[in-house]
Amino acid sequence: MLRTIESLGSLDGKRVIVRADLNVPLDGTDVADGIVIADDGRIRASLATIAELRDAGASVIVISHLGRPDGAPDARYSLAPVAARLGELLGSTVQFATDTVGESARGIVAALSAGDVAVLENLRFSAAETSKDSAEREAFAAQLAGFADALVSDGFGVVHRKHASVFELASALPSAAGRLIEAELGVLERLTTEPARPYTVVLGGSKVSDKLGVIDHLLPKVDNLLIGGGMMFTFIAAQGYPVGASLLEPDQIETVRGYLDQAAKLGVNVVLPTDTIVASKFGADAEHTVRATESIEETPWATSGIGLDIGPDTAAAFADVIRQSETVFWNGPMGVFEFDAFANGTKTVAQSLTESRGLTVVGGGDSAAAVRSFGFSEDSFGHISTGGGASLEFLEGKRLPGLEALGWL
Ligand code: ADP
Ligand code: MG
Repeated sequence: MLRTIESLGSLDGKRVIVRADLNVPLDGTDVADGIVIADDGRIRASLATIAELRDAGASVIVISHLGRPDGAPDARYSLAPVAARLGELLGSTVQFATDTVGESARGIVAALSAGDVAVLENLRFSAAETSKDSAEREAFAAQLAGFADALVSDGFGVVHRKHASVFELASALPSAAGRLIEAELGVLERLTTEPARPYTVVLGGSKVSDKLGVIDHLLPKVDNLLIGGGMMFTFIAAQGYPVGASLLEPDQIETVRGYLDQAAKLGVNVVLPTDTIVASKFGADAEHTVRATESIEETPWATSGIGLDIGPDTAAAFADVIRQSETVFWNGPMGVFEFDAFANGTKTVAQSLTESRGLTVVGGGDSAAAVRSFGFSEDSFGHISTGGGASLEFLEGKRLPGLEALGWL
């Protein structure tokens, strides 16, 4: 049984750490030019729990990671802009510690009163957060635990990670899941316990090896599997076609052939792109043209052409399948939607989810950001999950360390 906030008893006057997932997409990598939050969805998703604890009289200490700094402070990944945005959304002052467990954090935590909210600097500025050595993680978790009386773990996007703040910290303090994790699990359980059929999973994005791995587990469960985004090129290569300079994992080609054989045996309808948008380079201003997936290298750019989106025929075919499904789970943009010229595939897929009468779930930070950047209302989807990898691993039936630490089996 998942422990919820109720299990912690009265939190009035207590110090409570909230492990949130405030890993928002950023625009700009140059601190001097200013770093802007491209999509604040994950901050909004964290509000319910933080506000509830604040209103219950707790002093709330919010911790999170942001991006992938190298285990050392890196101003490009500072949580300072996130803390400022959190303050605006909460309508209260949010203090910010310029380190995670150092002097600044200690000072701010010591001065907190009931109902105050503080954010500590990026957890991943410390290499111990993601260390493979459990003793290092435990030591870091113990330092964090020293700040508080309880932990509310609510970073759904990281529950599949055995990181200090996700796993070890949950044993170092009385701990419970927050409202976001509760809500996410409620929806994902509907996808795993007798989903209404046809059940369609749409995969895309750029984390090719991560996502190729889940296909194996999803095949026995789904009726349709639609493949777009960066991983499509490993499938195209598996069909024997050249892919130019597109994303490709050559060492996965054999595995992908195996998936296709297995899908055929299981009677799963795997829909692969028939056309793609090939670009002269990776950039918003790249020249581009539509090509059948067999002839990606038949452009003026030959082997240097890059597939940056699914083509219009593919997008229409995907949309048809999605509209006729009773359950749809989508993770990963169909193309580089950040550039207008390569956003159409993602837009068409998003649109078709809004037209499906079934349960539609969008998972993944970038997928959720894409949907919002196109101006779709969140209400047109059944659920927009804050976790991409976490929701995929949940659907695979994997044990998630961050949930097990909260009593979930
Ligand atoms: P999510 O956060 O939704 O789980 P990912 O992080 O896996 O998704 O992938 C998101 C990224 O995938 C986006 O930034 C997008 O630009 C990129 N992407 C999608 N298609 C391609 C492609 N064909 N080539 C390169 N990058 C791609
Ligand atoms: Mg992402």
